[in-house]
Amino acid sequence: MRTNEPADSAKLPGAKDPPAERRVSGLAVSPGIAIGSAYLVEGGDLPVHESYIRETEVEAERARFAEAVEASLKQLRKLKAKTAGLPESAAEEIGYLLDAHVAMLSNSRLVRGAGERIERQRLNAERAVELEIDEIARSFAAMRDPYLSARAEDVRVVGTRLIRNLIKKPYAAFSGAPDGAVIIADELTPADTALMDPQRIAGFAAQFGGAESHTAIVARALGLPAVLAVPGLVECTCPGATVIIDGSEGVVVINPASETVADYETRRDALNRERRYLARLRRLPAVTRDAVEITLEANIELPIELDQVNANGAMGLGLVRSEFLYMNRDDLPGEEEQYVVFSALVRGMAGKPVTIRTFDLGGDKLARSFANHYTASDNPALGLRAIRLSLQDRRLLDPQLAAMLRAAAEGPIRIMLPMITHAAEIRRVREAMEQVARRLRRRGVPLPKTLPPLGAMIEVPGAALAADALAPESDFFSIGTNDLIQYTLAIDRGDEQVAHLYNPLHPAVLRLIQFTVEAASRHGMPVCVCGEMAGEPRFTALLLGLGLRNLSMAPRNIPRVKQRIRSLDVVAATRRARAIMDQSDSGRIASLIDDFNALGIQS
Ligand code: PEP
Ligand code: MG
Repeated sequence: MRTNEPADSAKLPGAKDPPAERRVSGLAVSPGIAIGSAYLVEGGDLPVHESYIRETEVEAERARFAEAVEASLKQLRKLKAKTAGLPESAAEEIGYLLDAHVAMLSNSRLVRGAGERIERQRLNAERAVELEIDEIARSFAAMRDPYLSARAEDVRVVGTRLIRNLIKKPYAAFSGAPDGAVIIADELTPADTALMDPQRIAGFAAQFGGAESHTAIVARALGLPAVLAVPGLVECTCPGATVIIDGSEGVVVINPASETVADYETRRDALNRERRYLARLRRLPAVTRDAVEITLEANIELPIELDQVNANGAMGLGLVRSEFLYMNRDDLPGEEEQYVVFSALVRGMAGKPVTIRTFDLGGDKLARSFANHYTASDNPALGLRAIRLSLQDRRLLDPQLAAMLRAAAEGPIRIMLPMITHAAEIRRVREAMEQVARRLRRRGVPLPKTLPPLGAMIEVPGAALAADALAPESDFFSIGTNDLIQYTLAIDRGDEQVAHLYNPLHPAVLRLIQFTVEAASRHGMPVCVCGEMAGEPRFTALLLGLGLRNLSMAPRNIPRVKQRIRSLDVVAATRRARAIMDQSDSGRIASLIDDFNALGIQS
């Protein structure tokens, strides 16, 4: 009998009630369960430097400060709007807090004090804010009042937001997070996410972000359970609190009771068992019951995924998103650096094809090194991005083509072009590739006898509709359903407010896929799907039924999709796809797919 532990119901004198368990929901963007202590990126140390400004610069510095105040106010208003989705009491509680934060940015002691420091002490704005926060915190602490010391913490949180906006560095790396931490943030960029080490970080949740945002894609790539678009998250979570992230159901549990933790531990173990079971499919071919072979390739965001690619039995790399080369740095990667990375991928794939996409920079993927070179577009998704940017700035395209051509001498490489809209864009890249090849040959650099195939991503509705015109210029097509859905349905894939309208089963999207596959077939050209739809077993029968035989997906999705392929009959899937293509209602389409999938699973 244990005698030296207090009974559950007996409370030690002065002991506080444990904080109440709280569940909040968001978008399930990366499956898995993480249990750990909360690390709030709001609280991360920011690299603030001190510099003195000249008298002539004071006005500009004050304007920069005013801009940061405005940006912070905008963010807080956006956060406030999001609380509308919370239960009433939580919305009220968080609403008060956010109102207090807004008030702190409106002619408050913080704003006035920082402004005076810029003017009188000629300090740079971020240092002025930092000093002012410290002074306010000191004076509140001197009052020894718990209520006021909590207000000091609010000042610090608001000040940190201001500093982040001033230094335009949303979040510092996660080096301060303890091992096994769960990251909690307002918003995480894809570059922030790429900094998370899955060996140390258990998972993350953020208040903003859509299911097909690149932040979500990087989370899946790293195998980090993640939930995005969770209203009120930061305000509900204290640093160090225990948090559960259920990336499969889109739930975050803050301060879970011990039974809840036990329940989620059981679910986590079950998921791990399923993963081990699926890993056994690795050596089996992706072949349907009526003997149609399907090529399953992998998408990668970061070279460290190569182990995952091979562990999951990918037959090649169908999409290497080369943007990682630009992340978290201020300079541009040169030819040599890119060559080293690409040739390592070629070697790592040991003779299997490697499809490298030229930089898809711009939109939500605008690299820091570029932000200073180009005017920000009011509408970045429709602006100077992807192949448009590469063709406009040959300092981007040429070193990248040279690096790819050099790596192609060591193994099969395909070159893929993002956001193609016009046939002329492919033609111009081909000319550039031939020019670069001639230059390299003159230098005596070994190149393959035939230059690598050049493929167009079909991710703009106009490109799908004009697929017949693009085909003669292309060696292959790869359908990027993520952007194709975004542009067809006019849904920002990263905006949680319209995430519910992002629908891969919209008949317009399916018709564009069908159109592209038929055009490719008329021209005898390979076609693949490399958007997230390819990695979703729910859509496998439909894609095969539409005539696709090559799918590229996040490595960890391969086993599940393979399992679905092995249970399918292509003749039946084709018949079902025809019936689906006669429909004009996405709800009806969803039922036809789900019924067919249920049949396949039973048989
Ligand atoms: C796509 O748009 O479907 C795609 C594969 O490219 P990304 O997700 O990198 O934009
Ligand atoms: Mg895309």
